[in-house]
Amino acid sequence: MEGIIKFTASKINSKLISKEEFEIINPSRKICFDNNYIGVGADGIGFGNISFRSNDNNEFIISASATGGIPTLKTQDYSRIISFDISNNALECEGEKLASSESLSHAAIYKSNKKINAVIHIHNSNLWENHINKLPTTPPNAEYGTQAMADAIMAIVNKADNASGVIIMGGHQDGVLSYGDTLSSCIKSLDNLFL
Ligand SMILES: [Zn+2]
Repeated sequence: MEGIIKFTASKINSKLISKEEFEIINPSRKICFDNNYIGVGADGIGFGNISFRSNDNNEFIISASATGGIPTLKTQDYSRIISFDISNNALECEGEKLASSESLSHAAIYKSNKKINAVIHIHNSNLWENHINKLPTTPPNAEYGTQAMADAIMAIVNKADNASGVIIMGGHQDGVLSYGDTLSSCIKSLDNLFL
């Protein structure tokens, strides 16, 4: 059955992202935190993650696991995804911290369209409730961090005409994905949904 394979993140080494890469991602991550797109819930658990494509081979840099509640990130709070295998729910990463299972939702988007360079995953109840089944929505039985979720995301991105858009994660309460050419455009797509 899909979605029952346990997620594995293998850390290849502890190499940190470069200063240039940090400067691409960190200002947008700060905006997401300030907007409460990324943050910490009443349950004390951090939510949300942000990534950008760092080479032509579907490698990307993403905020690491359990960093959602940290107001200001440092280079060691990011992880580089070197490779991933969606059907085995596995990835290889580089950095001080591990990547989360939600990284595979980002991977599914990068794999689907080479023109997509940035992905942001947020939690927002208003946006989720107002747009579920109006914007492209993954099925309610596809849970977060599963192959079923990755497959549903790939189907949506493959079908879309544009290399930018917003996906409601039907099986992941409050979960929303924004993808596009740049991190700024991903944030703008989210902001526009509140207008
Ligand atoms: Zn989430």
